[in-house]
Amino acid sequence: MNVKKMFINGIWVESQTNEVREIINPFNQEVIAKVTEGNEVDTKLAVAAAREVFDKGEWSSTPAIERGAVVRRIAELIERDKEELATLESLDTGKTVEESRADMDDIAGVFRYYADLADKDGGDLIDSPIPNSISKVIHEPVGVCGQITPWNYPLLQASWKLAPALATGNTLIMKPSEITPLTTIKVFELMEEAGVPAGVANLVLGAGHTVGAELASNVDVDLISFTGGLVTGKKIMQAASVNVKKLALELGGKNPNIIFADADFETAVDQALNGVFFHAGQICSAGTRLIVEESIHDEFVNALVERVKKFKLGNGFDEDTQMGPLISAEHLEKVEKYVETGIKEGATLAVGGSRPKNPELQNGFFYLPTIFTDCTTDMKVVQDEAFGPVITVEKFRTEDEAVKLANDSIYGLAGGVWTTDIVKADRCVAKMRMGTVWINDYNTYFPHAPWGGYKQSGIGRELGRIGIEEYTETKHIFQNLKPQPINWF
Ligand code: NAD
Repeated sequence: MNVKKMFINGIWVESQTNEVREIINPFNQEVIAKVTEGNEVDTKLAVAAAREVFDKGEWSSTPAIERGAVVRRIAELIERDKEELATLESLDTGKTVEESRADMDDIAGVFRYYADLADKDGGDLIDSPIPNSISKVIHEPVGVCGQITPWNYPLLQASWKLAPALATGNTLIMKPSEITPLTTIKVFELMEEAGVPAGVANLVLGAGHTVGAELASNVDVDLISFTGGLVTGKKIMQAASVNVKKLALELGGKNPNIIFADADFETAVDQALNGVFFHAGQICSAGTRLIVEESIHDEFVNALVERVKKFKLGNGFDEDTQMGPLISAEHLEKVEKYVETGIKEGATLAVGGSRPKNPELQNGFFYLPTIFTDCTTDMKVVQDEAFGPVITVEKFRTEDEAVKLANDSIYGLAGGVWTTDIVKADRCVAKMRMGTVWINDYNTYFPHAPWGGYKQSGIGRELGRIGIEEYTETKHIFQNLKPQPINWF
């Protein structure tokens, strides 16, 4: 098996230590690839390359329309190789190949969106209050960007960072999750083919505490864009303070989904399931805290349980599979402990709560879809992110109570409201402290709309126009058209 390499300064290289990491298929634990394992030394080399290329200024001064064309070409190549990329993503993450195909469409869409925006920012002329002057605001690239991604949506999360950074003329060093680097490696091949100049986009493979930590603390890195867990986000924030790096943090969520009694019952049941169980609940915006009006609570829970019992777990490449495995043995144990905590705290297990017994699933990291009822906000199981296929259900009587329960979290990434009373929906949404709120929908997103969190779900926004602003500095240029002494001193 060939060892997959990193990409530094336009050259595919092995790490300085020659260490190798095996990449495992979470469905059956087979080794699907071997990749070189980089460390701090490799990271420093990549940062030095990105710094030198940025400081030379060739990429940042390339006309934006040409940078946009390169980014558009990346989108076309992703579309050309969609099936290969989707296969790699499913082998690496265990998610169904149908989900991975949809991811690849979304990813190509992200590159297209930022390709189109690349040359749309001509700056702004300000109506200067000073006579005989010109005042204008322009946007310039931030510089050298460190980009760190998680394992749940490996290439999707990478695309949200790569596309705007390239479109705006930055140079970058990407560090994918060490567990799921394969599609990111492939996209770096496509970026090379698309004509991204050497040293503009660098790829370093390896662990968070080595490669990631070096990126966060290296003084030649101007910006860190990180997607991952809250604990890691805090470490990165601290490390990044060394040179006051710009920070973009997309962290966790513990997202409420409010179901009013007047909602369309069947649709709300169906979407409450979709809101959580895609990719086995390993979605930052998963609507894992169901908040259900008391009058329909029992009927709603029964309907969920009946549907959940019929879920087909299995190989993501089998057509009838609805839910794949969790990402790793370690993560499976974490979810198991979380469920144990819920039971100890007095939540009632309505369904699931263990690994499946099916013989054909025993080599994979599977966990049954699980629903807890009788939950209250003081429970850890309601407050902590499980990042697995687990729902907690809380009851409410009044609209105010529903909103209060929804906001009772350190996180503020996303949430949903289900009701046919649109005025009531608007009232709730106005009070919900989250970066994205869906009304009669859940988990819909697209490149045009910003994504990010209130509270401890993060800092900054990805996607949308604001996603491009993260990668630019703002410069005010003031020109005096009639300079003359003022004779103050
Ligand atoms: P993680 O924090 O463990 O790892 C994320 C990345 O950070 C990995 O590449 C890892 O190697 C790296 N890392 C780890 N320690 C580091 C350190 N000390 N310094 C620098 N980098 C380090 O998260 P994960 O388990 O890969 O992903 C799951 C988490 O990501 C969940 O909390 C989920 O909610 C969150 N997430 C958020 C979003 C969002 O848009 N807000 C999207 C996807 C995932």
